[in-house]
Amino acid sequence: MTQRQRSDFRKRLESELAALYRSVHGEVRDEIAPRPLLADEERVGDEADESQRTQQRDLLLSLAESDARRAQMIEQALRRLTHGDYGECVECGAPIGLGRLKLIPWTPRCLECQEREEAEARSRSPTM
Ligand SMILES: [Zn+2]
Repeated sequence: MTQRQRSDFRKRLESELAALYRSVHGEVRDEIAPRPLLADEERVGDEADESQRTQQRDLLLSLAESDARRAQMIEQALRRLTHGDYGECVECGAPIGLGRLKLIPWTPRCLECQEREEAEARSRSPTM
């Protein structure tokens, strides 16, 4: 990977991270603010309203959680860029394809290791 490519990836990762932080904070602000858009006749009682709010909060939390995970991956990718091992799979050390990096610049794994990881995660998760 050339110096030029590395600095392009760094720029992309940094702007991605900034956008992620902005969106997380924006969502949290929206959630705290009152929602005046709901017309009175659309209200279906306090109880239903309350459960709807709870559902929205749960959704927001899980969204924020996956955003937080991605932010963490981006920060790790930036650290790898600094250390010079960016673009190498953290599992097997093989170079991650440039095409894959352009698609997901924060990915820590090559496609092969990623697929194995996902298959393992699926087999670990409890069946309902
Ligand atoms: Zn690998």
